[in-house]
Amino acid sequence: MSSVNRRDFLRMTGTTLIGMTLGGVALRTNAQEVLSADDPTAKALNYTAKSTKPDAKCGNCMYIQGSDGKQQRPCAIFPGKLVDVEGWCSAWVKRPG
Ligand code: SF4
Repeated sequence: MSSVNRRDFLRMTGTTLIGMTLGGVALRTNAQEVLSADDPTAKALNYTAKSTKPDAKCGNCMYIQGSDGKQQRPCAIFPGKLVDVEGWCSAWVKRPG
């Protein structure tokens, strides 16, 4: 390997490491945490992790996201947070179908 090629290789490796590091930060930023009832938006929308309404809960709300079968799932109203499928908030709208 000539010295120029070695320099190019080292530069490329450094760029790759920076990309991997930034990618890791991006992945951590996307990590979702369970929505707390103390969250200001949750309070404003009266979110509770246990719905008291017989036919209305996060699990049948049109804003729930993610896969069926998980107890905690993303919600379009609370970006970056997970809501309980048994929960409820005042933004609830029945999921069509
Ligand atoms: Fe649950 Fe409210 Fe999100 Fe609907 S909008 S899934 S009721 S937290």
